[in-house]
Amino acid sequence: MMKVKSDINRKIYYAGISAVIAAMWMGVLWENPHMHTNQAGFFFHAVLVAIISILLLAYPALPNRSMRIIIIAMASVYFYTLFFLYPDTWSTFLYIALIPLVSIFFFDSKLFYFSLALNTIALTVFFVFSIFIDQGHAFTFIQKDPVGNLINFFGSQILLYTLYYLTHERMKKQQLYYEQIQQSERIKTAGQLAAAVAHEIRNPLTVVKGFLQLYEQDSNIDHNTKERFSLMIGELDAAEEVIAQFLAVSAPAKAVTVEKVNAKADLHSVTSLLASYGFMHHNQIELHVEDECMIAANSMEFKQLFVNLIKNAIEASTENSSVRVSAVQKGPVVEIEVSDSGNGMTQEQILSLGTPFYSLKSKGTGLGLMICFNIVKKYNGTMKFQSEPGKGTTVTVQFPSYDK
Ligand code: ADP
Ligand code: MG
Repeated sequence: MMKVKSDINRKIYYAGISAVIAAMWMGVLWENPHMHTNQAGFFFHAVLVAIISILLLAYPALPNRSMRIIIIAMASVYFYTLFFLYPDTWSTFLYIALIPLVSIFFFDSKLFYFSLALNTIALTVFFVFSIFIDQGHAFTFIQKDPVGNLINFFGSQILLYTLYYLTHERMKKQQLYYEQIQQSERIKTAGQLAAAVAHEIRNPLTVVKGFLQLYEQDSNIDHNTKERFSLMIGELDAAEEVIAQFLAVSAPAKAVTVEKVNAKADLHSVTSLLASYGFMHHNQIELHVEDECMIAANSMEFKQLFVNLIKNAIEASTENSSVRVSAVQKGPVVEIEVSDSGNGMTQEQILSLGTPFYSLKSKGTGLGLMICFNIVKKYNGTMKFQSEPGKGTTVTVQFPSYDK
């Protein structure tokens, strides 16, 4: 599906670009007033068109940021060249006003604002030049109505800005909405899955445990064997505990008990619990927490969340590096960050986080982050991942702070 769509997009791109390239060459070759009179200008124009044609054709094969910057720079040079080379063709003024549109085409915010600013500066300089120095020699149409032209130009830039801003905001909102839907869909599946699995496992466990308890009381069985039964019962209890915990986070209907959580104390106990784990991996955990960070959540689950996040950070880290945990009060929320300088993740991997059983570790369960997302959602918090492959990961968790 994706492939078909990108094929269609590519075809449309090439069709559009071919038309643009044809138009540019027509501009060079068809009744060009400079062809014989100003050969240097004509040559420069032709070279620019050749370079831009190649860049536009090569873009789909190299669709990166440097390429976009080069294309926008060349397009700007090209439009300004047309403007100065053919002062009688007043319509080239339109192209100048539309330079920022080229970056809308690539949907690159920074480039858009940059070209908008650059365009405004360049044209302001030009207006000064045209009104005070050129005084209507070359650019008669400017001199005839300088104020009108100036207003038109600034009006067009404001219009472009507004258009871009509104479209961009709308797209961002849609993107966010889409991600939220995906996330809640995942959590729902995970909950159903967990409930089903836990239910299936619990029953046989209860049966086995019942028999073991019976044998434990049987007087025909010797003391040594009974001790082993006690051990088995102990292990089954541990398994039941895990299932109970798992059910607790995945059961949607369970009542939420919100209490005052002291982030500093809880993060301390989590980091000291994990210090030896970090030590095993030759990593250190650094903790920087402000004193008064009180959160409205549940202490047990808060700890469970950070045990998972810090464990992941340690597991991702290279040897002899440290995992940093910090917490600060930020207005109505407390922001806690766990960052590592480990192997990092790609954007695609980040999008898969929280999917049940998604794990890239040989012994991973892929359930840790699913549980984390559940906890964060339950207490109206947010959790965001920022990561770069080979550089490290920062997880930012925000919880509403506790008001007395
Ligand atoms: P598990 O730890 O059992 O694999 P998780 O749900 O905790 O399951 O994590 C899922 C996957 O997300 C991990 O296998 C790992 O690939 C990736 N991941 C999570 N945290 C980090 C991190 N800090 N750095 C790099 N990758 C991470
Ligand atoms: Mg994990």
